Amino acid sequence: MPSEQQSRIAALPPHMQELLRQRLAGSRPTAPAPGIPRAPRGGPLPLSFSQQRLWFLDEFAPGTAEYNSALALRLHGPLDRGALTGAVRALATRHESLRTTFDDIDGRAVQVVHPVPDLYVPVLDVAADRPGPAGLDELLFEAYSVPFDLRRGPLFRVTLVRLADDDHVLLLAAHHIVTDGWSMGVLMDDLAVLYDAARRGVPAALPELPVDYADFAVWQREQATGPAARRRLDYWRGQLAGLRPLDLPTDRPRPAVRTANGAVHPFTVPATVTARLAELARGHDTTLFTTLLAACTLLFARYAGQDDVALGTVSAGRNRPELERLVGFFVNTVVLRSRVDQRATFGQFLAAVRATALDAFANDDVAFERLIEAAGAERDVSRNPLFDVLVLLQNTRRTAPALAGLAVSEVDLSRRAATFDISVEFEERADGLAGFVEYNTDLFDAATIERLAGHLLVLLGAVAAEPDRPMAELSLLTEGDRQRVLRQWNATDLAAPPATFGDVFEAQVGRTPDATALVYRDTALTYAQLNARANRLARLLARRGVGPETAVAVALPRSAESVVALLAVAKAGGVYLPVDPELPADRIAFVLADAAPAVVLTTGGVALPDGVDRVALDDPRTVRELARRAEGDLTDAERTRPLRPAHAAYVIYTSGSTGRPKGVTVEHRQLANLFHNHRHGLLTAAQPRVRAALTAAFSFDTSWEGPLLMAAGHELHVLDEDVRLDPQALLGYLDEHRIDYLDVTPTFLRQLLPAGLLDEGRHRPAVLVLGGEALGESLWRELTGVPGTTVYNVYGPTENTVDALSCRVGDSPRPVVGRPLGNTRAYVLDSALRPVPVGIPGELYLAGAQVARGYLNRPGLTATRFLADPYGGPGERMYRTGDRARWTADGLVEFLGRADEQVKIRGFRIEPGEIESVLRRYAGVDDCAVVVRDGRLVAYVVGGAQADALRAQVGAGLPDYMVPSAFVPLDALPLT
Ligand code: AMP
Ligand code: MG
Repeated sequence: MPSEQQSRIAALPPHMQELLRQRLAGSRPTAPAPGIPRAPRGGPLPLSFSQQRLWFLDEFAPGTAEYNSALALRLHGPLDRGALTGAVRALATRHESLRTTFDDIDGRAVQVVHPVPDLYVPVLDVAADRPGPAGLDELLFEAYSVPFDLRRGPLFRVTLVRLADDDHVLLLAAHHIVTDGWSMGVLMDDLAVLYDAARRGVPAALPELPVDYADFAVWQREQATGPAARRRLDYWRGQLAGLRPLDLPTDRPRPAVRTANGAVHPFTVPATVTARLAELARGHDTTLFTTLLAACTLLFARYAGQDDVALGTVSAGRNRPELERLVGFFVNTVVLRSRVDQRATFGQFLAAVRATALDAFANDDVAFERLIEAAGAERDVSRNPLFDVLVLLQNTRRTAPALAGLAVSEVDLSRRAATFDISVEFEERADGLAGFVEYNTDLFDAATIERLAGHLLVLLGAVAAEPDRPMAELSLLTEGDRQRVLRQWNATDLAAPPATFGDVFEAQVGRTPDATALVYRDTALTYAQLNARANRLARLLARRGVGPETAVAVALPRSAESVVALLAVAKAGGVYLPVDPELPADRIAFVLADAAPAVVLTTGGVALPDGVDRVALDDPRTVRELARRAEGDLTDAERTRPLRPAHAAYVIYTSGSTGRPKGVTVEHRQLANLFHNHRHGLLTAAQPRVRAALTAAFSFDTSWEGPLLMAAGHELHVLDEDVRLDPQALLGYLDEHRIDYLDVTPTFLRQLLPAGLLDEGRHRPAVLVLGGEALGESLWRELTGVPGTTVYNVYGPTENTVDALSCRVGDSPRPVVGRPLGNTRAYVLDSALRPVPVGIPGELYLAGAQVARGYLNRPGLTATRFLADPYGGPGERMYRTGDRARWTADGLVEFLGRADEQVKIRGFRIEPGEIESVLRRYAGVDDCAVVVRDGRLVAYVVGGAQADALRAQVGAGLPDYMVPSAFVPLDALPLT
């Protein structure tokens, strides 16, 4: 049997239970505060802090119904209308709040308490054209959403709806500035007593109220000064320091000014789970509310991908007995901020949340408006101050008042406003917990919130069942989610027969031998001509011992020969290794030493380290030798051994975090899969043959797009070094050659747009492909629906053979990278490699036919990034991208940034660690850190080194795009 004291405590609102338990435990003895005195009524009466805030909001945006609150009672039976009207008048007589209005005098807001009003109770009939429950709901909604005028009043409105002679609905509506949830209970209780008395014509037996709301307002202002108040404020200042808003994944961009359009999604927590949660709470000497709060905090931490989460809740704000029976705006908002370490168990987390909640409620005498000041946060009109998600638990459902002679029940009013992004409200019922998610409909779709409620249920079940498991191991995934994210959205089967690149190119030569394949400056080669040249060079390579798995470095200035060489290496069966002749000598030496090519194809002008076996294409001996070679396609008989699609096609070097670049090896079968994707994807059948411009440097894998398009029958224009990076020259070329297809980075596009790329009245490319780095929101919007050009966003790491996901710009209201390509799968996984649900951030993994072989000569590194695919067939692997991402409800992947240090600058992939390691080799550098500031690399350096010396040092070892723009000397490293 619970003691009387215990059951009294259990009947209190959760935060008060928490507080009381603690006070009873003696940990926080507080001296009884003196009572609230009656304030003199001669002069102007101030507003309470929370009223002040609503008054301010109303002045800012008057005439909204956002803060209308209401209560509706269904009255079955013979109603005494006269008694009801009398009782309603008596209510307003009893409670000053119900006859208060607001004004300002000399710039100060005041409340004006009016004498007893002659409250009029109109009777409405449900219109004949809107019968039934829906009609009633609509009528009640309309009635209570009529805006209140805070200056003119009345701020309390009563309406009686007549459904039949013995069937009515009584609607009590008031502006929140004069009421709150608790007040509604008081109103119901008082109404019952007053109605009964009015019916019987006797005075009501209600005890006199000790004070009125205005007395509280005066007292509250006095309490806000003095040492105790200062201590509380200090507590909050510390508690809220550095608070960041919860960055929830919304379905639509957040409007610049917060809106309040809302809807509610109901759900039910099963009784068994509720019972376990209550038990868990008891075991941790805390309340069900705290347990629900902890679970919600964990949920939203996962949703936002943040480990520092502040949620709001409310406290009744009636910590003094004399306030208990008053009607008025007392409810206060409390911020509960928690650090979420997913490695901890839920039990451990619950203990921490309990401590936070105890402190917060012990300091909840601070009005929310003062917290906002204390936090010193900047006003952001696009969201609520301090928190975006509210969590509350109503202990028990209010019981409808017993009105004499009537059967009374409360009518649920449909609410179509949302004060916060999301509010999760629980209500204790006999059979478990009823839940309601109220959400802002300008931010979220109903389906998203339905999923969120589903995730919350999964999570509640999981923490109830296994409170001692690390939270990281608790999954939110529902079975429906699992099907969607693993199967449905990865159903990407595409017929893509494995082949070598030589095969696919030669097939096209057979189809269109006389069409133009390649254009570079004044050179134009047909498929037949290009094939002949490539075959000759391939034979030369084969004679030098090049065959499957033998690397051939191609260190040529950009030219038509770049493409001839690439084809020749493929045909000979060698591994194509592009080396940019512009790279510093050290870098070239490193790559050649690492990949150990059998031959370097180059020209006389390119400097190479001593001892490499070079073939200069402009050397007369080479030219003579090539002329002697046959021009027909090579057969396996001419290769050192038979060439198969599983042989390596190329190695591309990319920045390495540990200080040296790493070579990614891609096989022909992976490349062939990409080829089939492009053939079926980016370019539709409506354009059988287009003119495509290649702007990418050959040392980056995106340059493969060119040869692949060419092999699919399109005319490839290799843009000259002077043209490819110069907006005006590039646009001139596009115009002159009527280029249909262009692939650039978003950074470069930002230069091309003002230069007129998509302007009307000029030749615009039919297909514009963007990729290599994130496409921002504004560019996404700008490009959505541009006429005449189809814009794609394409995403992919070198390790997944150039591309992995793609979409059309505009496929979703916010930027996404799209869906997996054919025979490719995308997984968004948590740290335990389990799929995370739709909408929740995780790390992106790629699986399927384009996962590369691995890093050349780096088995250890390969093993950490290319993992066994737990969701694929036997032996399949997946690549861990290091990119953070999440699924949208439509099965599109949204890119959210990096999980590590890697950065992209103008599309260049850079590991700051690599630059740092080059810097550290220098004697004058004790320590350093390289970061991106405003889109540029900045090196912070400790030690005596001078910037000029450092620049030279770094420039000798790294490509231009990795040389920091600035070197900042530091005495110590205060980098955060
Ligand atoms: P890379 O291997 O040079 O192609 O670089 C791959 C990385 O670039 C990816 O892991 C992403 O971080 C980034 N990236 C590539 N394409 C996109 C894109 N369309 N949107 C956002 N990030 C991208
Ligand atoms: Mg890429």
